Amino acid sequence: MSSLTKTATVTFDAESIRKDFPVLSQSVYGKPLVYLDNAATSQKPQPVIDALVKYYSQYNANIHRGVHYLSQAASQAYDNVRIKVKDFINAASEEEVVFTSGTTDAINLVAATWGRQQISEGDEIIISAMEHHSNIVPWQMLCLDKKAVLKVIPMNDDGELVMPEFEKLLSGKTKIVAVVHTSNSLGTVNPVAAIVHAVRQHEKKTGKTVPVLIDAAQAVVHEPVDVQKLDCDFLCFSAHKMLGPTGVGVLYGKTNLLNSMPPYRGGGDMIKSVSFEKTTYNDIPFRFEAGTPNIADVIAFGAAIDYLNNLDRIGAVNHEIMLAEKAANALSEMDGVQLIGTAHQKTSVVSFIIEGVNAMDAGMYLDTLGIAVRTGHHCTEPVMQRFHIPGTIRASFLFYNTLAETETLVQGVKKAVDKLRR
Ligand code: PLP
Repeated sequence: MSSLTKTATVTFDAESIRKDFPVLSQSVYGKPLVYLDNAATSQKPQPVIDALVKYYSQYNANIHRGVHYLSQAASQAYDNVRIKVKDFINAASEEEVVFTSGTTDAINLVAATWGRQQISEGDEIIISAMEHHSNIVPWQMLCLDKKAVLKVIPMNDDGELVMPEFEKLLSGKTKIVAVVHTSNSLGTVNPVAAIVHAVRQHEKKTGKTVPVLIDAAQAVVHEPVDVQKLDCDFLCFSAHKMLGPTGVGVLYGKTNLLNSMPPYRGGGDMIKSVSFEKTTYNDIPFRFEAGTPNIADVIAFGAAIDYLNNLDRIGAVNHEIMLAEKAANALSEMDGVQLIGTAHQKTSVVSFIIEGVNAMDAGMYLDTLGIAVRTGHHCTEPVMQRFHIPGTIRASFLFYNTLAETETLVQGVKKAVDKLRR
């Protein structure tokens, strides 16, 4: 299914790993919970939960402002996470790491600052046909505001971007390319390195700079993303999809770009000095972090990064892909079941429809069996429009899922087909 898998044999011990995730050991409706909604949000390991409890019970304080012990401890813990994020994505320096409330916030930040400064009437913004709404709507809002034009890279019936069409879209009017690394609704892993490379070639030809923003919300938990190697200009992701808490995310931006951007929100911490006559803004990244940040969750995000760093990540991705492949193969053999998203490069997302069965009814039925899947358009309505369907049933696997859970899903879908099909 994916070239991400590095070895043929899988020795990953999901059974012992899942003990680190307290949520997973419960029963719902008297059935063991089978959590297959990881693309919506991942579960949290105990060290992440402990980090939150420790902060609130031992050193809760506001940061960067207090000279007292607790404030210094909190500031240090918070600032350390910026270094962890920098290392995690191999940014050139920690000033390139801006904490946001999530991927959505990070993309909005770029659209509202870089975009409002750089985009004018007639300019073109390129996105793809498989974007999450959070990488469509901020650009649409900007286009409306500035009379700019949104261009969309099409995809084929397998849910893969049509690269020659992308290259045709690049023009002298292109101002930014913003694409998703890994699709949440189809599971497609896009050729982001090739996209960046094509843009760099285009820059050489035209002499114009075109930043590339990568929405890595679904990518970073599955595979290492090295921003220097990828040479992207912006990278956005959310902590909650990579074992961390909700309400925290990252905007990575190259130093020169972040330095050139005006502030996002005004308030405390983002200034150097304020008078009624004039305000001078703080250096990056603080310029983009107005007000008291989400201190506790950033600190717990650091514990999530530690957890991932200590994991056998190649074993983990092999395991996830193996489960997703087994599920996809079994489901595709069922009468009336059709997979949506059959790209060659895929993550562990299996989206499907059942002929004659409403996706939400199927999801609700699976829920009664203790199986948590997602149904609907997954915040990618244009993807559903492309496939002429209202929505899909999506099972998304993470390394702590097991073969037994995969089998429970397959049996559950069989029952759903028998019971619900008209
Ligand atoms: N981009 C993708 C590909 C996603 O899957 C999601 C969430 O599902 C987002 C962006 C938005 O992430 P958040 O809601 O954490 O801001």
